[in-house]
Amino acid sequence: MKGRIHSFQSLGTLDGPGVRFVAFLQGCPLRCGCCHNPDTWDVNGGTEYEAEEIVRRAARYRSYFGREGGITLSGGEPLLQRDFAAEVFRICHEENIHTCLDTSGCADGEKCASVLQYTDRVLLDIKYTLPEQYEQHVGCKMRQPLAFLEAVNARKISVTLRQVIIPSLNDTQENVLRLLDIAKQYPCVDKIELLPFRKICQSKYDMMGIVFPFGHLPEPDPKQMDKLRKVLGTYGG
Ligand code: SF4
Repeated sequence: MKGRIHSFQSLGTLDGPGVRFVAFLQGCPLRCGCCHNPDTWDVNGGTEYEAEEIVRRAARYRSYFGREGGITLSGGEPLLQRDFAAEVFRICHEENIHTCLDTSGCADGEKCASVLQYTDRVLLDIKYTLPEQYEQHVGCKMRQPLAFLEAVNARKISVTLRQVIIPSLNDTQENVLRLLDIAKQYPCVDKIELLPFRKICQSKYDMMGIVFPFGHLPEPDPKQMDKLRKVLGTYGG
């Protein structure tokens, strides 16, 4: 089975536990204002690869994976190509490679059962904790990622919640407390990661001739990030 891939990262340490081979899948239906990969949006972009080829590439780095590492499918939104993602993960399990899905969760959890049955960990981007911010700055309803989380929880798959912290939108203690409230409702969540909003992607928007919606916002102050991470307690890892 073939899927469209934007790019690969051989030895990633930011997208899931341990050292990971990361495949960024092409295509995303959302339009997050903070998106740093607008070049992954086009569903017809990228390059086609066979699922076996992705696993073959990942397996080359097996000696670096150790006990925790493995493969991560990121994007774009990997669930847009859920059959392909399921096939990659199925073969990974045959090869004894740990699988991690990095997703916005803006997908029907039940339709994603084929992927989830081979998923060892989900990295779920809860982009905001207020429904109106979801509608304004993401382009989907907040109930979608929450319903997805429900489906993942029912399957007892370990989850890391992630959120990009964006000054003036969600860089407050109240927001992080709301995120903690969400985490506590789902026993599958064992970790929360707060990631600073970055503007290094501005040049991609310039090259594509489109406006970076959050280009006018500053990056967060590292001290504020430390303060917010302290609120996470044991979820901060
Ligand atoms: S879900 Fe990810 S790839 Fe899609 S628009 Fe949002 S940040 Fe970008």
